[in-house]
Amino acid sequence: MSIIERARPEILQLKPYASARAVAGDAPVMLNANERPWPGAGDENLALNRYPAPQPWLLVERLAALYQVPADQLLVTRGSDEAIDLLVRVFCRAGEDAVVITPPTFGMYEIAARIQHAGVIRVPLDETQDFALDRDALLAAITPAVKIVFLCSPNNPTGSEIDGTEIRAIAERLAGQCLVLVDEAYIEFSDHESLTAAVSEQPNLAVLRTLSKAHGLAGARCGSLIADPAVVDLVRRVMPPYPLPSPTVAAALTALTPTRLAHSRRQVAELKQLRSRLETLLDSRPFIDRYWAGAGNFVLLRLAPGWSGLDRFAARQGVLLRRLELPERTLRISVGSEAELERLATVLDAFQAQGTPETMQTTGDRGR
Ligand SMILES: *Cc1c(COP(=O)(O)O)cnc(C)c1O
Repeated sequence: MSIIERARPEILQLKPYASARAVAGDAPVMLNANERPWPGAGDENLALNRYPAPQPWLLVERLAALYQVPADQLLVTRGSDEAIDLLVRVFCRAGEDAVVITPPTFGMYEIAARIQHAGVIRVPLDETQDFALDRDALLAAITPAVKIVFLCSPNNPTGSEIDGTEIRAIAERLAGQCLVLVDEAYIEFSDHESLTAAVSEQPNLAVLRTLSKAHGLAGARCGSLIADPAVVDLVRRVMPPYPLPSPTVAAALTALTPTRLAHSRRQVAELKQLRSRLETLLDSRPFIDRYWAGAGNFVLLRLAPGWSGLDRFAARQGVLLRRLELPERTLRISVGSEAELERLATVLDAFQAQGTPETMQTTGDRGR
């Protein structure tokens, strides 16, 4: 069985909307899309009066070169968030099908599934093993209803990684049954290799990449789904006809020039050093139980028992940290610039000087 046959039957039968730009492309005179013939003053270069190409070929080629895949395996999306949503809608029948997630992990997988009224099966990462994936538990959780297995490596928020061989073995076991979707939003910060090249051999394996993190383009919204061309074709049917705003395309193309790519690589190296600096800031703090530096541009920490409120305390001083609901008492701290980490150090010192919540109860507002 091909993984395509596991898609929703309505989508398999759907004839996609044929937009003017998709049908006819570009020509010197374009009277087929009800556009205004003149751009706004100052918009001439971007031609914002024109609808953009649904998948601008130059951008597709540059991204395919960056990720080292054939162009027909790559779909450009409005961030990888969009690809997550589209894949769930392509594969999961509402009220019938399900996805597997490995918490603690990126929250969007579950949200996308719930919006589609798909079931969510949890196979928790093993906290006692630095959040390793339990492959046997994962395979045991697969029911006929499961259409997508979400894996995230390096994982947000734990920074933990799954070995590529392990992921390929899982995909092989689930061939023709489940799409194994590997979210590599942070792979540039890792020493592991990307799995993009494995997609050619394993049609039920798909990879998400993004320009949002290592390439510093979160505001532009530009992600890539790398999947079997037949999967790409199905996702395109569900995607809006003009998903990529021209300014996004322009910003992405600029970020993919050799100079900017070299710059990004240097900044990734710098961020990895700053991650070590962040670790030293967290070392030997009485209010931190432990932390996991992991392979992303962030660190996960757990407060010691009896401590809480670090995020609120920091926010009052203008420093935002991410508090997680699970695991308990954990916070995720992104690796910032040197100056930002200095600010953070000041906040951590002040929090420590306040004493534990217990001593605060007995001594009132001490330290404020
Ligand atoms: C940040 C993040 C994304 C979002 O990427 P966009 O391309 O900005 O939508 C995807 N997956 C994970 C795990 C992330 O942390």
